[in-house]
Amino acid sequence: MNVLVTGGAGYIGSAIVKLLLAENHHPLVIDNLSGGQKKYLPSQGRFFKGDLTDTVFLNTFFEQNNIDAVVHMAAYKDVGESIRDPEKYQLNVMGTQNLLNCMQKHKVHQLVFSSTAAVYGEPTAIPITEAHVLKPLNPYGSSKETCEKIIQKASEAFPLKFTIFRYFNVIGDAGMNYLDPKASNLVPILMEASLQNSSVSIFGTDYDTPDGTCIRDYIDVQDIAKAHLMALKNNSQQIINLGTEKGTSVQEMIKITEQVTQKPLQVEHSSRREGDPAEVVASNKKAKEVLGWQPTVSLEESLQNSWKAYQHQAESTP
Ligand code: UDP
Repeated sequence: MNVLVTGGAGYIGSAIVKLLLAENHHPLVIDNLSGGQKKYLPSQGRFFKGDLTDTVFLNTFFEQNNIDAVVHMAAYKDVGESIRDPEKYQLNVMGTQNLLNCMQKHKVHQLVFSSTAAVYGEPTAIPITEAHVLKPLNPYGSSKETCEKIIQKASEAFPLKFTIFRYFNVIGDAGMNYLDPKASNLVPILMEASLQNSSVSIFGTDYDTPDGTCIRDYIDVQDIAKAHLMALKNNSQQIINLGTEKGTSVQEMIKITEQVTQKPLQVEHSSRREGDPAEVVASNKKAKEVLGWQPTVSLEESLQNSWKAYQHQAESTP
């Protein structure tokens, strides 16, 4: 299958491109390289530098390439930035609309879309099922919610099959040694701190959780990539959570990281970060039932893989 992967030079996108190649598909990557890095693209994957808001570029791409399915990951994804610069996050919606227009025009009828648990906002029940009310707490989450809506709307206008994946906290490494210099997420911060012997801040120790720190559902990037391959074989119209159904607190993440790296971390306690829900854990029942998907990589293994990637970087940097 010829699969367009938008945002294919990113952390998750490059893992998907790698898996598509391993399963003898033909990935074609569009990425504007604002977050993605071309060095992580396997050489067999075809690369087109461009932005989804550029309709001339996008139309030309679809005219010149025969696409069977699209995995749409290209998006700005920094929650903090989205609060500071909400207009930028409208580009996520614009890019998705342009892509859908091109898919309709060029009769491409299969889409897998990267959404996020951020569409749920502060959960009212744990584990969170796909039926949970959508109430994003920031412009990033809102932009993904709007994208979900326009995809569903498009499927009424032309025979579009889609899988919308709502990712929980994606971690680990898919053998690419992928480091995101801009990452502001917990795991890259823990890895960086272990490597540099610098300190980490816990954002809030007074949450209503057993140890007072926030609980998240950390899911391995290789398991995420596998789900996309499964979705490409499962023509439907569906929204599916991708998580482990297991919650881990920030404090526990620090402890497991110390075990994996064999290094103590210097920990500081800071105030809460704005808009952080106390607990976010997925129900993955639907993914199991509909796709036959289930997480296979343990949290320890996932952190081990991240640590290897960071050590690899340290060794290869003169
Ligand atoms: N966190 C933290 N210190 C950091 C970065 C993150 O305590 O330096 C916490 C954050 O408050 C949240 C959890 O780690 O409770 C996961 O944060 P991340 O940004 O990785 O993902 P989010 O759940 O916000 O999407």
